[in-house]
Amino acid sequence: MNQRILNEIQDLKAKRNAVILAHNYQPAGIQDLADFCGDSLGLSVQASKTTADVIVFCGVRFMAETAKILSPDKTVVMPDRWAGCPMADMITAEQLCGLKQKYPDALVVCYVNSTAEVKARSDYCCTSANAVELVNSLPRDKQIIFVPDQHLGKFVEERTGRDLILWPGYCPTHVFIGEDDIRRARQVHPSAVVMAHPECSELVKRLADVLLSTGQMLKFVKDSPATEFIVATEIEIIHPLKKVRPDAEFIPASTRAVCPNMKKTTVEKVLASLESLQYEVTVPEEIRLKAKKSLERMVEILPEK
Ligand code: SF4
Repeated sequence: MNQRILNEIQDLKAKRNAVILAHNYQPAGIQDLADFCGDSLGLSVQASKTTADVIVFCGVRFMAETAKILSPDKTVVMPDRWAGCPMADMITAEQLCGLKQKYPDALVVCYVNSTAEVKARSDYCCTSANAVELVNSLPRDKQIIFVPDQHLGKFVEERTGRDLILWPGYCPTHVFIGEDDIRRARQVHPSAVVMAHPECSELVKRLADVLLSTGQMLKFVKDSPATEFIVATEIEIIHPLKKVRPDAEFIPASTRAVCPNMKKTTVEKVLASLESLQYEVTVPEEIRLKAKKSLERMVEILPEK
């Protein structure tokens, strides 16, 4: 990595009073230069607690939007303007409104991987770590619309025993992982623990030993006596996993599980974002306030642990 660019980033970061956040799926070099690494909501909450004026969010658009929703007075920039999340874009606010018209009495739960407009039209937001708990806390006699990830939704259905009204969204990166990938990896590493993300397909999840969000994976390996883990999620999570358990071996279930949008961030773009405060992410105030409500309702019924 170019040391001159890294030095310039540090200088500008101090000058701008900026904080750099990197999602667990960002390239390893970006994670290493960030002030905080983690999952999308955790990062946004952390950033809202800092006294920084500028947040450089190395991730995808909905994550930067979430940071802006929670930190309206900070300037939020993302190094690559085109880093979007195909799953978040699989449902528009209009499509969600159509669904709400069809099921007027249903509560709407949206996965945090959704646009600010969709969050604004939802009753509750959830993460992959707390979706089961959140749905379990809602009145049993209420129908629930769950968007946009059908695979996380089916996982919630299975764990809660409730029928949800699902939207057919999915993460293209996670569905790349096939059941044959898990079987092959298990053959080579018979004593490994298979960890899969709830965004994986149902067939993959059925073959896994544990189903965990990225944050939960980091905690799980820390306390696990196992020394080999097959990892069924975006492959870059292996970088922080190795930091937690340097003695363990982490095997990607599929080397094709790469999110191209997460890989759009480069150190050059991080530097440019600090130099020119680009690309600024804004959320109209009316949308921001409503979206914030759905996040706050989640925290109200599931206080941070
Ligand atoms: S890994 Fe999937 S859900 Fe995450 S940003 Fe990429 S496309 Fe979206």
